[in-house]
Amino acid sequence: MKIGLEVHVALPTKTKLFCSDLAYENQEEPNSNVCPVCLGLPGSKPVLNETALEISTSIANALNCKISENTWFVRKVYFYPDLPKGYQITQLDGAIGIDGYVDLNGKKIGIRRVQIEEDPARIIREKDYSLLDFNRSGVPLNEIVTEPDISNLEELKDFVEELRSILYYQGVNVNQELKTDLNISLAETRVEIKNVTGVRNLISAAEYEIKRQSAMIKEGKSIKAETRSYKEDTEETVSSREKETEEEYGFTFEPDLTFYSTKEIKPQNPVIASKVAKGLADKNQYSEKTIKELIMFNKRNMSLLLGVNKEDFRKAVSLIEKFAAFGIEDYSSGEFNSMLKNDITSVERPAFMSLLGREKAAEANIDKGEIEKWIRYVLSSDKNLLDRGLTDPKVIGFMIGQVKEKYQINGKDAADLIKKVIKDLQNK
Ligand SMILES: [Zn+2]
Repeated sequence: MKIGLEVHVALPTKTKLFCSDLAYENQEEPNSNVCPVCLGLPGSKPVLNETALEISTSIANALNCKISENTWFVRKVYFYPDLPKGYQITQLDGAIGIDGYVDLNGKKIGIRRVQIEEDPARIIREKDYSLLDFNRSGVPLNEIVTEPDISNLEELKDFVEELRSILYYQGVNVNQELKTDLNISLAETRVEIKNVTGVRNLISAAEYEIKRQSAMIKEGKSIKAETRSYKEDTEETVSSREKETEEEYGFTFEPDLTFYSTKEIKPQNPVIASKVAKGLADKNQYSEKTIKELIMFNKRNMSLLLGVNKEDFRKAVSLIEKFAAFGIEDYSSGEFNSMLKNDITSVERPAFMSLLGREKAAEANIDKGEIEKWIRYVLSSDKNLLDRGLTDPKVIGFMIGQVKEKYQINGKDAADLIKKVIKDLQNK
């Protein structure tokens, strides 16, 4: 079995890729963060955001790529409403990084290419019309293309986790959903599944496709080379009529931009959390799995654990877990180190807070805004929960449990916040 991915992630820049509009802030009002460049008006000229180039170089470096000394852009020509200028500015032969890999417990998953490109506008489809929001148009993306080196579902899960962690340590917001095209071939024929949003859907699409292709092989049927799309509601992939294949796009050199040298950019040594976890586990004779859970997506946990002695390590892990269990997120390393001196094994929250010296502050102001944000995050990253939402009391019950576990809040307040968020989300 061969699985390959094309993953798109948004880069953490203040402004867009080719103009000075904000990339992520003030996006609520549709079409408010736009200018002639990102609207693609005739006569407008793109100017490359150097920060996007620096971050991309750093990402390519973290993925063990060869960095192109001179990188350049092409126009990918196609006709679609999300790109009124008639082409997307992207890279091809001039890609920022090529021939890299991700090390997955000793197995190398090849990275064919890391390239910079602009995001098109967002299309909002209504029943009999569509709306366009250009706030997203021109947001800098990296497209990361792997070799078809992933050979089963478990490896796919591990790879996605590892890639997301590497990107997290490069400053990429990994809570934002990944957009992925994946190709899966069980036999000789390559089947591509386009535009899968989110990690959960990616795994589910792969799961379905592997089952579908194995069933066909068992029945002696031949698998058609085709493009499919993933249906979230039925969790299956279906054949889709494709606009163009890669070969049918027109690619031309982008004459409004030039060649960009990467010689002056010196990327730092990348942080590979899984390697750090292994190192910490060996050094402290502690479970690698637990350490990974704590540090793959948490810079503070990593720096705390790297800072403690072997004799304090076990205690440091349980202290981090206590802080999380008691819903205290804003602690300093000073507070952490002073708490290390206490025996907190069987300490409940009130005693813990008083050891920390902040029992009063905690009871007085429960930050409902913070809790609401967290609920919104959990619900919006799980579409199933949201869809069942208001009608299913089990979902609300489950969420109340989750909120109470994390924050000091009573059940009624938690329920109110949850219902409010569900309502907001459903009205969107
Ligand atoms: Zn603009």
